[in-house]
Amino acid sequence: MIEDRLRAIRDRISAAASRAGRDPQEVRLLAVTKTHPRPVVDEARRAGISVFGENRVQEAASKYGGIAGSVELHLVGHLQRNKAKLVPGLFSWVESIDSFATADALSKRCEAAGWRCSVLVQYNSSGETSKSGYDESSVLLEEAEQIAQLAGLDVRGLMTIGPFVDDQAKIASAFAHTRALYERLRARLGEAQIDTLSMGMTDDFEIAIAEGSTEVRIGSALFGARG
Ligand SMILES: *Cc1c(COP(=O)(O)O)cnc(C)c1O
Repeated sequence: MIEDRLRAIRDRISAAASRAGRDPQEVRLLAVTKTHPRPVVDEARRAGISVFGENRVQEAASKYGGIAGSVELHLVGHLQRNKAKLVPGLFSWVESIDSFATADALSKRCEAAGWRCSVLVQYNSSGETSKSGYDESSVLLEEAEQIAQLAGLDVRGLMTIGPFVDDQAKIASAFAHTRALYERLRARLGEAQIDTLSMGMTDDFEIAIAEGSTEVRIGSALFGARG
């Protein structure tokens, strides 16, 4: 079941990349398992998935117990500063960095635990107040440079959640803005270091790939609707 859905998603990623004149290998698939129980993760692993996303630290800690070392787990939801201590040993990526203070707390926890964590800085490209992330691109760039100095973290790029609207042009525009900001971050911190632009979910990943996404975060198209 997941295997069939996975094949269909990979085909759609390839087709979207081809239409954009891009190599499908440039687009990583992150399988978002939030709300789905451990057996779903096990089935996904048997289907060949090894990179997973969760949006809550505690849910991930109980679900991924015992296998955190054999999968690559990304935190895609907001990180509260007091949960930073739970990241080492569990998440090798945090995609939702939205303040220097949180990044600093996370860096200290990672250093103390001897754990390296790749991070993405979250940009609020939709301007929707319900979404986290930096609203101002100039502030984001400034703080990303400071976060890049932290010893326990590797800044790898940007993450955004597109606007939840039907208007495809509006979604494309939010992604294009994020891509432009990503290019500015690359110019500042170096293309070797900044290699990940995480944008696109079940309903908008093809638009995101057309706009330059290097990672799509797919939940419901792989695992069905969440309860
Ligand atoms: C839930 C979630 C996803 C996956 O959403 P789908 O629409 O089910 O693919 C991706 N990114 C983030 C940040 C999420 O919280």
